[in-house]
Amino acid sequence: MGAPSFAVYKLVTLLFAAKPVEVPLVNHTHDLTALLAAVTPRTKLVFLPSPNNPTGTANTSAEIFEFVRKLPEQVVLAFDEAYAEFLDNPPDLRPLISEGRKVICLRTFSKIYGLASLRVGYGYASADLIRMLNRVRQPFNVNGIAQAAAIAALDDGEFARKSVEQNRLGLKQLEAGFNALKLQYVPSLANFILVAVGAGQKVFTELQRKGVIIRPVGSYGLPTWVRITVGTEAQNKRLLEELALVLRLEAAK
Ligand SMILES: *Cc1c(COP(=O)(O)O)cnc(C)c1O
Repeated sequence: MGAPSFAVYKLVTLLFAAKPVEVPLVNHTHDLTALLAAVTPRTKLVFLPSPNNPTGTANTSAEIFEFVRKLPEQVVLAFDEAYAEFLDNPPDLRPLISEGRKVICLRTFSKIYGLASLRVGYGYASADLIRMLNRVRQPFNVNGIAQAAAIAALDDGEFARKSVEQNRLGLKQLEAGFNALKLQYVPSLANFILVAVGAGQKVFTELQRKGVIIRPVGSYGLPTWVRITVGTEAQNKRLLEELALVLRLEAAK
């Protein structure tokens, strides 16, 4: 797995008493050459998110195809598409699945459809790989209400389009605000953005006191950054105002 990347990859690896191998990102982006170089005969699984959390970056489709075709036969790729719907042209790995590559693509209703509390997502892979998963999955893993909502969500293209559009505008608004505050940020392809604020944990605490919740990312090895989720226009405006106040206070102390 890359680092920093979604914390759950390492947690589940440890949960299964396997050895996590973390490969540093380059320019906040997965370095697929280094990731491939870290694969050994003992490697069972590689995680690759597109886009990545918490950096909001993604590799190109061509890079990913080349990477997958070079993976040894025994390695399964978990391709995490939690934020794929926010990409203009999300990589489509179905041709790799068709040619027999061990790829499982993972999607969620938590992000683009805003249904995180229903705990529903899905994966697609070859019938062989899905058959293996079916042997070990919990028998009652997704409740009926969540399934009904997920099916309704898939039919609601209008909502997804609105989410993407609102997110595109929100990212622009936040980037303009960060530029005005002279804050460094990582251009994002997801629905959040990583911005350098100095003491990330402290900025988080002070904003929280004002009722604005952002994500400190010290636990991801990024103590001087915070991750900010794109909100509505009014929420983004409020965040930028409060952030300016907090940072000015910081500077004055
Ligand atoms: C949110 C997220 C998920 C999945 O979230 P669930 O709510 O468990 O479906 C997976 N990968 C990444 C990178 C995420 O940010």
